[in-house]
Amino acid sequence: MILVKRNYRSLNLHCQPAISFSTFSSEIPKLKKTFFKPLNDEQNLIKRLCRENKHEEAIITLCDRHRLDEAIQLLNRIKRPSPLVYSNLLQLCLQQKALESTKMVHAHIKTSDFSPGVSSYNRMIDVYCKCGSLADAQVVFDEMQDKDLCSWNTMVSGYAKAGRVKDARKLFDEMPEKDNFSWTAIISGYVRCNLPNDALLLCRTMMNECNVRCNKFTVCSALAASTATQCLNIGKEIHGHIVRTGMDSDAVVWSALSDMYGKCGSLDEARHIFDKTLDKDVVTWTAMIDRYFKHGRKEEGFILFSELLKSGNRPNEFTFAGILNACAHHNTESIGKQVHGYMTRVGFNQSSFAASALVHMYCKCGNVQVADKVFKWMSIADLASWTSLINGYAQNGQPNEAIKLFESLLESGTKPDHITFVGVLSACTHSGLVDKGLEYFYSIKEKHGLSYTVDHYACVVDLLSRSGRFSEAEDIIKKMEMKPEKYLWASLLAGCRTHGNLDLAKRAAKELFKIEPENAATYVTLSNIYAAAGKWGEVAKVRNMMDINGVVKKPGKSWTEIKRKVYTFLMGDPSHTRSKEIYELLMELQKKMREEGYVPKTDYVLHDVEEEQKEQNLSFHSEKLAIAFAILATPPGTPIKVFKNLRTCVDCHTFIKYVSKLVSRKIIVRDSSRFHCFEDGNCSCNDYW
Ligand code: ZN
Ligand code: ZN
Repeated sequence: MILVKRNYRSLNLHCQPAISFSTFSSEIPKLKKTFFKPLNDEQNLIKRLCRENKHEEAIITLCDRHRLDEAIQLLNRIKRPSPLVYSNLLQLCLQQKALESTKMVHAHIKTSDFSPGVSSYNRMIDVYCKCGSLADAQVVFDEMQDKDLCSWNTMVSGYAKAGRVKDARKLFDEMPEKDNFSWTAIISGYVRCNLPNDALLLCRTMMNECNVRCNKFTVCSALAASTATQCLNIGKEIHGHIVRTGMDSDAVVWSALSDMYGKCGSLDEARHIFDKTLDKDVVTWTAMIDRYFKHGRKEEGFILFSELLKSGNRPNEFTFAGILNACAHHNTESIGKQVHGYMTRVGFNQSSFAASALVHMYCKCGNVQVADKVFKWMSIADLASWTSLINGYAQNGQPNEAIKLFESLLESGTKPDHITFVGVLSACTHSGLVDKGLEYFYSIKEKHGLSYTVDHYACVVDLLSRSGRFSEAEDIIKKMEMKPEKYLWASLLAGCRTHGNLDLAKRAAKELFKIEPENAATYVTLSNIYAAAGKWGEVAKVRNMMDINGVVKKPGKSWTEIKRKVYTFLMGDPSHTRSKEIYELLMELQKKMREEGYVPKTDYVLHDVEEEQKEQNLSFHSEKLAIAFAILATPPGTPIKVFKNLRTCVDCHTFIKYVSKLVSRKIIVRDSSRFHCFEDGNCSCNDYW
C-alpha cells in the first residue's frame, strides 16, 4: 500500500510540469530583485506603488505575500494587465485552492484586452480542476479554439482524479492523439475508482494494439490494478512488457513489481525481483521483510532483517515495529532483544510506535520487567503501550500491578479503549477481585461511553463463574447485545467444572458444540464434570460422541529457546540427542519430590485438557521434558522459560512447583491460557488457570 501511494505521488509531480506557464514564471526572479527592496513596512510599499500607479507591481508584491483578496481587488484598477500578473494570480489561486478568486481572474481575462494563449487556457483548466470545479474547467476547455495535447490531458486527468472516470474515458476516446500521460491518467483513474479490470483491459490495449511506449507511471498503475484484482497472470504479462521495454532498471518499477508478486501470493518471485533491484531503499526492504512475516515465513524474515543491517541501509520505525511485532507473535525474545540493542545504538524516538512495539514484544515474551523499563523510559507513552503493559502484568501473574497501572492511566487523562479494559478485567479475574472487576465492567459504558465487545462479556463471565456467581453471569449473558462466542462459553464451562455446576455445564457445552464441534477440549471437560459427579454412563456417552464426530485431540507440544535455538518436545518424545539424560533427570527429580510429599495426580478426573493423560505418560508430558532439558543445558540459577500449545495439566503444575524449589530456579511456563511463574515451590497463578 505504501508503495502504491508513493507511485501516485510521483505521478502527480510528473504531470505538473507539462502544464506550466514557463515563459512567465522564468521572468519572476528578475523582477523580484527590482521590486523587493528591503522596505520593512509592507503596507507602505503597496501604498507607494499604488500612488505611483504601479498597480501591476503592487499585485505581484501582494501575490508574493500570499494576500490574494487584496491582489484581486487591485486587479480592477488595471485595464490591460501583463500576462505575468495573471500568471501570478492563478498560481496563488491554485496554491490556496480558491475557486471564487479563480472565477474573478477568469472573468477579468475575458473582459480585458488580453487574449490568452493555449498555455494560459491550460493553466486555467488545471486550476479549476484542482479547485474542484470540473464544470468551470469544461467551460474553459469548450471555449478554446485550439486545443493541444496538454489541454486534453489536463481535462482527462481532472475527471479521472475527481473519480468521474466515465467522463474521463469519454474525453479520452475523443482525443485526436494520445501520449503516455493520457494513458497513465485514465489507467490510474480506473485503479483509483476501484475498477481494476477496466484498468487492465485498457492496459492490454495500450501494450498490444497501440504503439505507445508506456512510462514507469503507467506500468506502476497497471501493476497496482493487477495487485488489487489479485491477477497474477496479468501481472506477469506486465512484467514481460517491462523487461521488453527496458524499464527493468527502474527502482520504482521493481518495487511495484515485487509488491504485486508479494500481494498476489507469489513470495519467491517477489524475493527474486527484490534481489535484482539495484537501489533498494528502506521502504523496499521493510516491505519485503513484512511480506515474509505475513506469510508465516519468519526465519526468512529475520534473515533478511539481518541482511538489511549489513546492507548499510538504516531501518526506520516501520521496520523496527514490523520485526518486533513478529518477535512478539513468535515469542522470540532473543531476536527482539538484539533489535532493541540495535535500536539503542542507532537511537530511536522515545515516543514512537517502535518504542511502543518494544513494550508489546517484551510483554508478549513474558518479560514484564524490561517492558516496564522501556515504558517508563518513553517520553509520552501512547495508549498501545499502556494497554500492552496492563495486559502483560495481567497475564504474567501480577494482576495487582495491572490494576495499579490502569488506575494511573485513568489519572493521566489518556482514554482507555476496549482492549485496555480486556486487560484490566482479566487482571481482576486472576486476582479474584470480582466486585472491582464488575465495577470496571459497568464503567466501560456508563463512565467511558464505550460499547461492549464480545471480549468484555467473555471476561466478565469468566470473572463471575470462577467464583461461582453463576446467576449473575447468566443475567449478563441474557442482556448481551450480541451473540456470545466461544471464549465466553468456554470460561463458563471451566467455571462449572470448578464449582460442579452440571446443568449450566451442559448448556455451555451444547453451545460450544454448535460453534466448534471439532474442539476436543469441550468434550474432555464435559466428560470430566460428569465423572466428578459419578455419572459414568454420561462419561461414556461423551466419549462415544467424540468418536462419532471424529474429534482428534491436538498433540501437546512444548518448546524452549536456548542460545537462540528453539528446542521442541512432544509427549514422551525420545528423539532428542540428550533424551537419556532428560529421562534420568526426571526420574531423579520425581524420586526427590515423592520424599517431600508429591503424589502424581493420575486421577482420571483431573487431567482434562489433553490426551497426555495415561498414567504411564504422565511423567513425560512435553513441558516436563522441555524443563528437564533446559535444566541440563543452562548453568545453575538461569531462569527457564517454556512455551506450551495446550493448557498445562494439574500434575505438571504441581510437579513444576516442586522442581522450582528443588533446583532453585525461576521457571516460567506460558501455556495456552496464561503465564505461570514458578518460584520456590509456588506459582504466580495461585493454582487458578
Ligand atoms: Zn501435564
Ligand atoms: Zn500456575
